[in-house]
Amino acid sequence: MRRVRSIAQVRRAVAGWRARGLTVGLVPTMGALHEGHLSLMRRSKRQCDRTVVSIFVNPTQFAANEDLSAYPRPLSADLQACQREDVDLVFTPTVDVIYPAGFEMTVRVGALGELWEGKSRPGHFDGVATVVLKLFTIVAPDMAIFGQKDYQQSVIIRRMVVDLNLPVRIVVAPTVRESDGLALSSRNVYLDGLSREAAIGINQALIWAKSAIRTGVSRPGQLKGKMKRMIEKGGCFSLDYIGFCDPSTLLPLTFARPPLAILIAAKCLTPGPALNRRYIDNVIIN
Ligand code: AMP
Repeated sequence: MRRVRSIAQVRRAVAGWRARGLTVGLVPTMGALHEGHLSLMRRSKRQCDRTVVSIFVNPTQFAANEDLSAYPRPLSADLQACQREDVDLVFTPTVDVIYPAGFEMTVRVGALGELWEGKSRPGHFDGVATVVLKLFTIVAPDMAIFGQKDYQQSVIIRRMVVDLNLPVRIVVAPTVRESDGLALSSRNVYLDGLSREAAIGINQALIWAKSAIRTGVSRPGQLKGKMKRMIEKGGCFSLDYIGFCDPSTLLPLTFARPPLAILIAAKCLTPGPALNRRYIDNVIIN
């Protein structure tokens, strides 16, 4: 495994592989790697000859009220994890490599970036799309792997690839969970005993809604009340939104009938670091 910091080094490595006819997979991350990230690396390794992982805490996707500096950055543990997964290249640029002085052009996501997460995090998806587009042009991968955990993000990336004619295949891999169902997240380390226990309510609400929908309940209003109670039980979390939406447009549905995506965001209320402690999860029902 090689670790590189410059764009030129990434391009040289990838050009060498291309010259030998090898395919390249990219896994973009912000580090603080866990099994969810590792599952994306394994997917890339299964499907591509070479795998590039980027580790970059992207400042432009943090809203003004979110504390960028509090985001965990355990770089040496992350590099060891990449080594264990036997990825080929880890790209760890500094902020000025990605956003040099004078940087100005950005991607504007539009309406898709203003729904759900976008409502609570203005500008977030413009920042995500901009950095992902840059990573695509730096690495020029055949395939890029994202997690279903950030479902809205994956829909936006797919849209960007279509709208901007980017020659990359997008793979969305399943959410990796703890044994009790909590979706793995770099932010889980900030959950203390009580809020950790309460956090399983988020996934349980999704599981309950899925089975209720299967039995024919179809009015979002009938589902939301019980889901909210499940999430807020114990007083550790406050529900931000529950979205019943079309899985490709993310527009809200009048009836919760498949195919649909159910998106949840909840805020942790227990004392913790200044970091924006929102927890998101989703289920897709086909
Ligand atoms: P992040 O480092 O949080 O920006 O995430 C990098 C990638 O890992 C994104 O594509 C996420 O969707 C994905 N990811 C995060 N958590 C999980 C998880 N629990 N299971 C699968 N993928 C995940």
